[in-house]
Amino acid sequence: MTGKRDGARRDRAASTDAVHAGEQEPRPEGAVVTPIYQTANYELRGEDYHDIGYIRLSTTPNHRVLGERIAALERTEAALVLGSGMAAISGSLLTVLSSGDHVLVQDTLYGGTAAFLQQDLPRFRIEHTVIDPQDRSSWAAQLKPTTRAMYVETLTNPLVQVADLEAVVAFAREHGLVTLIDNTFASPINFRPAEIGFDLVLESCTKYMNGHSDIVAGSVAGPADLVRRVKVLHDHLGGTLDPHAAFLLERGLKTLSVRVREQNQSAGRLAALLEAHPAVSVVHYPGLASHAQHERAARLFDGFGGMMSFELEGGVDAAEAFMSALTIPMVAASLGGPESLVVRPAAAIHAGLSAEERARAGIRDDLIRFSTGLESSEDLAADFAGALASLPRSVASATA
Ligand SMILES: *Cc1c(COP(=O)(O)O)cnc(C)c1O
Repeated sequence: MTGKRDGARRDRAASTDAVHAGEQEPRPEGAVVTPIYQTANYELRGEDYHDIGYIRLSTTPNHRVLGERIAALERTEAALVLGSGMAAISGSLLTVLSSGDHVLVQDTLYGGTAAFLQQDLPRFRIEHTVIDPQDRSSWAAQLKPTTRAMYVETLTNPLVQVADLEAVVAFAREHGLVTLIDNTFASPINFRPAEIGFDLVLESCTKYMNGHSDIVAGSVAGPADLVRRVKVLHDHLGGTLDPHAAFLLERGLKTLSVRVREQNQSAGRLAALLEAHPAVSVVHYPGLASHAQHERAARLFDGFGGMMSFELEGGVDAAEAFMSALTIPMVAASLGGPESLVVRPAAAIHAGLSAEERARAGIRDDLIRFSTGLESSEDLAADFAGALASLPRSVASATA
């Protein structure tokens, strides 16, 4: 089933939990690593339906170990792994909300989440209202008698903004709302939303949690009763993680702490390099003093993450020229893997939005998003500098 923490080891560091939390005792055959339990079903032992050993019910040892490991990392009572980040997000929203309910959501959301809220939930008479996550004073006016929940993201895509997260928790408590947060961009190494009072913490484990760009997975962490409700719903929806993918996720998690700390450092260095360069007009990175919510990020987070975005003097042409001049990063969507990735959101991940919608979200056509990988930060810095130097003179000297 879902992992449930014993709560006895809260003193352990995340790097230790990432390697050991939830391990089977005794180790089967002395195995150092959790084996892949490639069996669909298990002998009956008189359990209730939802606890029968069966892959779809997330009851296999691979699921249980991961549930406990992720609960330990998120500092929550329980956690559940699922077949994708969207399985975690859609399953959690459908658990917390019923027909006729209303949810307050942050203004910029992951595309799949926004589409689910706009296209799917209205068919079940579940409505949402978009709020300005920086302006607490505007939220009360958006409440309805049917409002049940608030949904935010730790860091927005692609501008890496940080909502007034403490105010979200306080406001929700005041009004009896369940809080959900997508923590994918931060990972529990950089931020543990449950520690400041969020109820359900969601991760696309496809990204930093697995960290190797080779599986799709998701997790839901929170109070045991709420996580159990998400599990029971997914017993019916069927958004389960396959044991082989669970094995890979467990392997990926073991290095989460070292990977994320390295990516934090490397990203900080690259963001500073970009900000100081005359061909770069603006850099969005929460670790920079120039970031609008830098102070909040510094107070709440243990690290500023591997994601940043920036604009070049010279617009779309310069952005395209810069991206093709880079030799290390690949042009691709997604994030959080060992490979540095660069993408122009307006041409790829946010191409589904209209020009006005993108403008309202502050996503200019020339904005470049960068996911810092695990290559040497010296090599990445040299690659960035070389690509910037290769831009046409008129562009590079525009503000020099
Ligand atoms: C990728 C992503 C998701 C969706 O996760 P999948 O594993 O692709 O389903 C949700 N939220 C954020 C912030 C993401 O980056």
